Amino acid sequence: MTPFKRVDGVLHAENQSCSALAEQFGTPLFVYSKAALESAWQEFAGALQGREHLVCYAVKANSNLAVLNVLAKLGSGFDIVSAGELRRVLNAGGRPDHIVFSGVGKSEAELREALAVGIRCFNVESQAELERLAVIAAQVNVIAPISLRVNPDVDAQTHPYISTGLKENKFGIGMQDARAVYARAVELDSIKVIGMDCHIGSQLTTIEPYRDALAKLISLVDELATDGIHISDLDVGGGQGIRYENEDPMDIGDWANCVKNAIGNRQLQILVEPGRYIAGPAGIMLTRVEYLKQNEDKHFAVVDAAMNDLIRPALYSAWQAIEAVEPSTEPAKHYDVVGPICESADFLGKDRELAIQQGDLLAVLTAGAYGFVMSSNYNTRARAAEVMVSGDAAHLVRKREDLDDLFAGESVLP
Ligand SMILES: *Cc1c(COP(=O)(O)O)cnc(C)c1O
Repeated sequence: MTPFKRVDGVLHAENQSCSALAEQFGTPLFVYSKAALESAWQEFAGALQGREHLVCYAVKANSNLAVLNVLAKLGSGFDIVSAGELRRVLNAGGRPDHIVFSGVGKSEAELREALAVGIRCFNVESQAELERLAVIAAQVNVIAPISLRVNPDVDAQTHPYISTGLKENKFGIGMQDARAVYARAVELDSIKVIGMDCHIGSQLTTIEPYRDALAKLISLVDELATDGIHISDLDVGGGQGIRYENEDPMDIGDWANCVKNAIGNRQLQILVEPGRYIAGPAGIMLTRVEYLKQNEDKHFAVVDAAMNDLIRPALYSAWQAIEAVEPSTEPAKHYDVVGPICESADFLGKDRELAIQQGDLLAVLTAGAYGFVMSSNYNTRARAAEVMVSGDAAHLVRKREDLDDLFAGESVLP
């Protein structure tokens, strides 16, 4: 699937020229490909075929209603981390009984709301959360289906900010405590233990951390069976990596085989929570060059997108490809591509070879995941518009924010 390709030298999103999209919708602009979302989701579904499974898209990667709706139509499940994401999924046509709820800090109100709509599973991350959920479920007279998120203490070999499966991380329940918490869970009348869950980190490029984590989970599943506790769902989390620069990510078929081998002939339904893998390659961000400038011997391209639009470079030192949308006869130079925000961390890329002039359009590639969703209004900048392309059609799926709306909820003292 190559959703973004060049036609006569001009970058296209499916059949739409990115120049035309920028002209029509303005910049900065996020552009998503419907076909790319569908094909990435199908990779998981295809690879797990023949086993009971549910692909639960991790909503936080890109929660635009149009994205969720495309996946809901494929029959996707959803992994949510807040009541806000729950409402988005329901609004976009997702099925409540296909929703799993992750996160270390679920509030009482969030647990209540999720119980009321009847989600498939609460991925419980602590004994305290288990006790709170049990009390609320008893009050409203329902039984809460749960998995315990265990922390297998494996090194995912990824950026420390996106590693979640080590002992020192805040996520999940330690392996040594998990058996006791399971024992407690089955004592609670308002709780039904259905599964085991883990999520060890994001942007993982090799299978080994999954293999290590699964070995630990499966041995815990077997131990629990000897305690008379039978698990039916095994949720292996998300984290499958993608190519931003020159990474060589795992093949989803190989990943699926690793999961199937670990499970063997145990009767376990496989749940997986991919976010980045589905949304990342399906999106780009378009931005226009406001100025070119030179300090000493450094060249800067000052563009109209900033760290408030795409924070990954500033936050994780993440590298994303940046290309000129149209071919040019300008001499190529090495530019730092920076935004208008008053922070030195405000860059989209450093030392990038580009042949550009003022007014040219640039595309930041692989920007569909953890892009718009992490954007902010810092410097009182309106957040970008989002467009979804499908074949020859382009739909505005989120309009650009209006500056007056940015402070509409504020007031001054009387
Ligand atoms: C963030 C997250 C995911 C998705 O991670 P990706 O790296 O985007 O695949 C899945 N599950 C949980 C619990 C998460 O927190």
